[in-house]
Amino acid sequence: MSQPIIEFKNVQKRFGDTTIFDDFSFKVEENEIVSIIGPSGSGKSTLLRILMTLEGIDGGYINVAGESLWHMLWNDRYVPASNKHLHKMREQLGMVFQHFNLFPHMTVKRNITEAPMRVKGLSRQDAEESAEALLELVGLADKAESYPNDLSGGQKQRVGIARALAMRPAILLLDEITSALDPELVDEVLDVIRNLAKEQSFTMLLVTHEMYFAREISDRVCFFDKGKIVEEGVPEDIFSAPREERTQAFLNAYL
Ligand code: ADP
Ligand code: MG
Repeated sequence: MSQPIIEFKNVQKRFGDTTIFDDFSFKVEENEIVSIIGPSGSGKSTLLRILMTLEGIDGGYINVAGESLWHMLWNDRYVPASNKHLHKMREQLGMVFQHFNLFPHMTVKRNITEAPMRVKGLSRQDAEESAEALLELVGLADKAESYPNDLSGGQKQRVGIARALAMRPAILLLDEITSALDPELVDEVLDVIRNLAKEQSFTMLLVTHEMYFAREISDRVCFFDKGKIVEEGVPEDIFSAPREERTQAFLNAYL
């Protein structure tokens, strides 16, 4: 078996007195598409935010592509990673958020070229060419010069996806990317992800409440509750024959 691209080992995470993860271990293989489902407040966003290094941890280890995210081994001792190391690790991950998080004062194109130019040092011309190709991919070639506020929610989220892809991440993290959308706009966003999954090999870790989508796209589905994976398996098993009572109760509320 190859080395997993994401590995959490005995991770602990607390917010003040509240423990979110206590001895949490979890792996994702390269090119695997894993969906996380579960009630709100169970720690799903925190899991993705920890991977993005937007949140720290209180114990344990996290490896991404074989390298430690927060600590590095040096003279047989673990020491905190340097900022340079963190920047390098962050570049492997792209995240799309529920509320888009686009820069309102920048055009669509600038939203996409900003990070590749600033963080990766791409020339404006290279960044713009890449942005144009990505806008084509998400079906928004004609919106390059628009501002986020002139777009529908579905269009904004497709820009969010293009922006994440512009950094050429090995791993895509999607946090309820359709939850803030009107129902009729959900499919135009999910279609972009469907096509990506079909046409390119990507490792994807997604949190979603769209059960039909999780079922269709995932190699593995994890039902998450109170900071623990209660049950996981292939979509058919989780959705058609869940073993755990908590999974059944959760799914009954959706299906
Ligand atoms: P989910 O995405 O599954 O709804 P979250 O990961 O957002 O859950 O949150 C898990 C728990 O952690 C919740 O109880 C939430 O209130 C708490 N939490 C999340 N972020 C913070 C924070 N920055 N400070 C304090 N508590 C937080
Ligand atoms: Mg969340």
